[in-house]
Amino acid sequence: MQKKFILVINCGSSSLKFSLINPVSSETVLTGLAEQLFSDEASIKLKLENKVIEKQIHAPHTHNIAIEILVQQLTELNFQEQIFAIGHRVVHGGEKYNLPTLINNEVKQTIDKLSRLAPLHNPANLTGINACEKVFDNLPQVAVFDTAFHQSIPSKAFIYGLPYELYEEHAIRRYGFHGTSHYFVASQAAEFINKPIESCNFISAHLGNGCSITAIKDGKSIDTSLGFTPNEGVMMGTRSGDVDSGIIFYLVNQLGYSTEEVNKMVNSKSGLLGISGMSNDCRTLEEAMTGEPNCRATLALTVFSYRVAKMIASYTASLTDLDGIIFTGGIGENSMFIRSSILSHLTLLNFTVDEDKNKQARFGNKGKITTDSSRSCWVIPTNEEFVIAQQTQTLLSSTLSTKTVGQ
Ligand code: ADP
Repeated sequence: MQKKFILVINCGSSSLKFSLINPVSSETVLTGLAEQLFSDEASIKLKLENKVIEKQIHAPHTHNIAIEILVQQLTELNFQEQIFAIGHRVVHGGEKYNLPTLINNEVKQTIDKLSRLAPLHNPANLTGINACEKVFDNLPQVAVFDTAFHQSIPSKAFIYGLPYELYEEHAIRRYGFHGTSHYFVASQAAEFINKPIESCNFISAHLGNGCSITAIKDGKSIDTSLGFTPNEGVMMGTRSGDVDSGIIFYLVNQLGYSTEEVNKMVNSKSGLLGISGMSNDCRTLEEAMTGEPNCRATLALTVFSYRVAKMIASYTASLTDLDGIIFTGGIGENSMFIRSSILSHLTLLNFTVDEDKNKQARFGNKGKITTDSSRSCWVIPTNEEFVIAQQTQTLLSSTLSTKTVGQ
């Protein structure tokens, strides 16, 4: 049977997202999610063109069991034999990995070592890799790192204003995340304007539960707002983004919070959720907005938009030319209110939203949302899974014989 699919795996701490993609035709034939792993509610859902399959995940409710059920289903659907490789999203590649990498024991050890820098993500990614190794024993596996696209940022953008030894001895620097997403939307925008990506300059805003802004010069990331951890830069769903570091010490030393409580506060109880006191979901807040100055839903969205706009404007210091801004991620792809609000702060940079086009570019529709006389701003739905499949295919084509790689 012809082997033409790549299985893309994105393993979170209690979830497992997967897609089956033909990297040549760009066709996604199956997507799915296993969630609430390690609980009695654990379940797995597979979506095909005309069908949804849902199963409970039996004890011990682990990633391994989820992957076993996935393989069973792929076999029943006759897909199993058509898979020629597995592409994994791996969050942290440190300074070592700036390209997709064929996974072997040494790579696994490095991903494990880098867990220090991404304690919530890298161990989960490694679990996914090991679980796949067990059930797909002969298939090549490739790691595509979320940090890789940002390895091109120069030292003036990645060094913190801290003692330099912290970088030299402990690798404390800006790494940036969402790299695969920024790369994908930048490539798409380059196609829109019919220019090679190598001569394009963009500012891309990935606005989902996590948010990051990236300055892209000549197709390469040259600065990005997420830093050493995914809690720097703009405010997010539940994360604070930038705060005065003095506040942390005040909370601990004067108000008696433990460092663990503060960690939880800035990562899980802040951002849209923290300000609104209601939800981290942009849709819920938009519905609750009253326009009153003391309405906390309005305040949360106003602060969010203003901070994103300021970050975008700050990146004009990194670029000498700007082809346009790109919005992506759940909020960037869907919230016309947030997009319009962000662009309203950027009139000095010659951005004027076209509200009709802004309304059209939602729910998977892409396109330009600014007026003809404005600088361009596009909405582009991200597709990290597709990039992972494509990069896995490209790497394998260059390292393995075409016999084992899908044709
Ligand atoms: P993640 O970072 O978890 O992948 P997503 O990219 O899916 O998150 O984005 C989730 C965010 O997108 C949520 O805040 C959600 O409210 C927002 N979102 C999704 N659809 C809409 C919509 N129609 N209007 C406004 N916000 C939306």
